[in-house]
Amino acid sequence: MSGLPKIPVLDLTPEIEALWDELMAAIQGVIKSGQFIMGPNVQAFEQEVAAYLGVKHTIGVNSGTDALVIGLRAAGIGPGDEVITTPFTFFATAEAISQVGATPVFVDIDLRTFNINPELIEPAITSRTRAILPVHLYGQAADMDPIMALAEKYNLKVIEDTAQAFGGEYKGRKLGTIGDAGCFSFFPSKNLGAFGDGGLIATNDDEMAEKARMLRVHGARQKYYNEVIGYNSRLDEVQAAILRVKLPHIDEWNEGRRQAARRYNELLKDIPGIVTPFEDPNARHVYHQYTIRVQDDRRDELKSHLAENGIGTTVYYPVPVHQLPLYKELSPALLVAEQLAGEVLSLPIWPGVQEEVLEFVAGTVRAVIGSS
Ligand SMILES: *Cc1c(COP(=O)(O)O)cnc(C)c1O
Repeated sequence: MSGLPKIPVLDLTPEIEALWDELMAAIQGVIKSGQFIMGPNVQAFEQEVAAYLGVKHTIGVNSGTDALVIGLRAAGIGPGDEVITTPFTFFATAEAISQVGATPVFVDIDLRTFNINPELIEPAITSRTRAILPVHLYGQAADMDPIMALAEKYNLKVIEDTAQAFGGEYKGRKLGTIGDAGCFSFFPSKNLGAFGDGGLIATNDDEMAEKARMLRVHGARQKYYNEVIGYNSRLDEVQAAILRVKLPHIDEWNEGRRQAARRYNELLKDIPGIVTPFEDPNARHVYHQYTIRVQDDRRDELKSHLAENGIGTTVYYPVPVHQLPLYKELSPALLVAEQLAGEVLSLPIWPGVQEEVLEFVAGTVRAVIGSS
């Protein structure tokens, strides 16, 4: 046991235990019904998420990655097109762009929000640019107003990667509902997580919704009358039933994460070389991750000291996507993303994380960094 962290980066047991009976009943209900694919739970969950987000259409799919792929295709993005995005994200963001045959064009990020820097988008627009794909990284909103203004000016689609930000807001609007489509992931560790893979596309655009619905079932509007090459990418009925039990708790859970973040902010205040997350007055950060910056090249040293004390941490992401061998030739240096890849460290956080955990983690950070 000695090698295992005593404090994990994420502990889902409290939320699962609190809802145990309801979850088991939901799963058993699906098994008893015998309807495992595209049944009543998927339909109900789609409606419930649409109501929660305040959006016209929601389309459940197999994963957040598929939500991006299908969302891009529903927006008409394909071979020859360029999509402007952030290099500081999970690989799936860029992978989805490449998957549909388009080319990701990476622009650098904002040092405070870790998200795409809107000022750098316009110079990257070419005659082939068709879309902007911002990511709401760690649960923090990308700066959507200037992004939407550019999209309007250049007639571009905006697809929001909302995988890490279910329930987050920008100027009072739910993330994933501001652009042409929002793509969500229900990977188990996300703020709203299933017990397996799952994803969803949200849109107010009737035509995109119809295309996405068709693409998730082999490109057929009517079964066996397939019209285009699509995917087998459906949200499972069991996962939808689980997500329906969890959805009513998402605001309370996100608030729990926000409380924990506020406490960390206090506990980590004034440690030289530690930068706590930017609190954007325009946004409701939902802290999928609580990510600090560790300056002076001490991140890895801090990470190993925390590990020695049984504290799990993660680096999201050690290599910015534009520096991966696949994309390296394509992209210029993006200095902010490259700097932050060496500084970021995500600390343990989950809804209801105990005060003692926060104090122990912050106290250990202070002991390592504040003492020299
Ligand atoms: C998790 C994640 C995805 C992919 O979601 P999956 O459900 O794992 O396919 C895409 N983008 C970002 C930013 C993510 O964090």
